[in-house]
Amino acid sequence: MKILVAEDDRTTLFMLESLLEKWGYTVQAVTDGLEAFNILNGDEPPLLAVLDWMLPRMNAPEICTALRAEGGERSGKPYQYILILTVKGEKENVIAGLGAGADDYVAKPFDSHELQMRLKVGERILHLQEQLQKAALYDSLTNLLNRKAVIERLESELSRSCRTGIPMSIALLDIDNFKDVNDTYGHGTGDKVLREIAVRMKEAVRSYDSVGRYGGEEFLLIFPGISGSDAVKICERVRSSIMEKPFSPASPHEGEEPFPLSASLGLCETPSPCEKVDVVLTEADNALYRAKENGRNRVSR
Ligand code: GH3
Ligand code: MG
Ligand code: MG
Ligand code: MG
Repeated sequence: MKILVAEDDRTTLFMLESLLEKWGYTVQAVTDGLEAFNILNGDEPPLLAVLDWMLPRMNAPEICTALRAEGGERSGKPYQYILILTVKGEKENVIAGLGAGADDYVAKPFDSHELQMRLKVGERILHLQEQLQKAALYDSLTNLLNRKAVIERLESELSRSCRTGIPMSIALLDIDNFKDVNDTYGHGTGDKVLREIAVRMKEAVRSYDSVGRYGGEEFLLIFPGISGSDAVKICERVRSSIMEKPFSPASPHEGEEPFPLSASLGLCETPSPCEKVDVVLTEADNALYRAKENGRNRVSR
């Protein structure tokens, strides 16, 4: 696991670095507060940090305040666990550090075993945070973005499209006659089919497209930067991926063969540059309704 250490006393920094490496961490070491902040605030930052309280240009509480203000989970960034090193007896530092958003502190000169164990606590908290964040974003059956997360994604893609003037498209996909699957083969097979369809959809779209579970057997697909016939092409590719290979029952009884399924898609291109979420969703829903009305297994706009 990656860890950032910021300490301007080089002897202490060297000692910390070798201890942390001995404990199995991949260490990034800096002697400057602003540099520490930039690393923690950058792309793919370490999630664990040990910061000396007093650092040049930005002290540990200032780093904590700035990082927490950036939004943490709100901006979709994973939580970072920050431990500060304080000089023994300076209680105000501890209070200021924790108040600014540090998670824990160790007094200097520190006991290495205590530091090691406190970092273990940090790892446990990070692990729980990761699980919580995953549960909040993803649908547990299909592993796709859940309804709330995919609508949030739609919101941010719409505002990006509004900013850049580059059009985008979305589609609502509904599996045709899905109730029959449950009725004929049981709920277990229905669930298995939903998982399989999620995989096929992900494979059919581009890596920067988003797919989320919008409702029971309804999915929302977001295609940034795509419009016109290109959007239809992707939707047709998704539709074919479901059509072209039959689905197997979860625990086939005698005589039960793989069965085919199809899906209907309602496509909506952003009608004007800056459209609201509910407007595009309603348009896509109306288009989906037309696809069903016109006989299912098709893409309507
Ligand atoms: P249509 O072509 O009009 O969409 O017909 P349909 O049968 O797909 O539509 P309907 O809305 O009547 O049925 C949807 C079914 O999807 C009903 C519900 O039991 C099933 N379903 C929704 N969520 C799940 C799920 O998580 N697991 C399983 N197994 N079934 C689900
Ligand atoms: Mg210092
Ligand atoms: Mg439905
Ligand atoms: Mg359906």
